Amino acid sequence: MKKAFTKRKSNHATFMYIPESESKVVSVRIPLWMPKVMAIALVLLLLGTSSLLYITNSINKRYSESKDEISALAAVNSHQKQEIEKLQNDAVQIQQQLVENIRALDQIKEIVGIKKSSEAAEEIKTIQPNSADTSQTTSDDASQQLSQIKTSYKELSIQLLSQRRLIDNSVDPVKKQVSYLNAMPSIKPVNTKITDSYGYRKNPFTNRGSEFHSGIDFAGETGTSIKATGDGVVIFAGWQSGYGKVLIISHGYGITTLYGHNSQLLVAKGDKVKKEQIISKMGSTGRSTGPHLHYEVRVYGKPVNPSKYFK
Ligand SMILES: [Zn+2]
Repeated sequence: MKKAFTKRKSNHATFMYIPESESKVVSVRIPLWMPKVMAIALVLLLLGTSSLLYITNSINKRYSESKDEISALAAVNSHQKQEIEKLQNDAVQIQQQLVENIRALDQIKEIVGIKKSSEAAEEIKTIQPNSADTSQTTSDDASQQLSQIKTSYKELSIQLLSQRRLIDNSVDPVKKQVSYLNAMPSIKPVNTKITDSYGYRKNPFTNRGSEFHSGIDFAGETGTSIKATGDGVVIFAGWQSGYGKVLIISHGYGITTLYGHNSQLLVAKGDKVKKEQIISKMGSTGRSTGPHLHYEVRVYGKPVNPSKYFK
């Protein structure tokens, strides 16, 4: 195979194809500018193709980046949903705790015998857990949920403050009531046999005629421990005719208790005593027929029946 190129004076070139067989010679006549144009076109084509490849690559890369971003955002979204649910549950739990606190306060008040604060407990509104479906949270839903949570927490903080006031206001009445209850002579001074009760009785010395017995007699062995029947202050510790070695304790509220015929006094005038504190030892001093405790409760100086005070 041969290829011939014949240059003429014209602006054309002719390509000839001369086969060795008997076939005809094929000649192609082209203008001289054509190869240049074709070369330029080829360069442009190459440039075009490579640009296209570059753009396609960029788009692919951006697409896969976006996919990553979307899945990252989805993870954040799901985490936020969990956080929102947790906050809602927390709010409900705090609210339940507030109700429990008021109940506890009421129990304390009931125990010490003062009025309940149940009205305040009713004031605590119930916060409902959000029942909205959180599985398909749009940004609108999320901001709505957040604003609900904000409202819930605002309400909770208001309730918390009002509860705080309620507790603060209850502290003094409860303290006063507890100290009143502790002061009341509500226990027996000794757990031995009662041999004489409060009221009129036969004269124990002559066994004739009647006399008023202003207290309760507890018989027992000499040296048996005698307890203070309520919190108070010793206002008398010494000898009184009839009562022998005697203690008088003031409990406030106009109430005093008296412990007579002791063999030994363990506290002195001015001492503060607590309910159940051992204050003396049983004996038979004064006007007594045998070892016993003569116990009196007096209201503004007047003896009353001590058994009314026993729990
Ligand atoms: Zn007596």
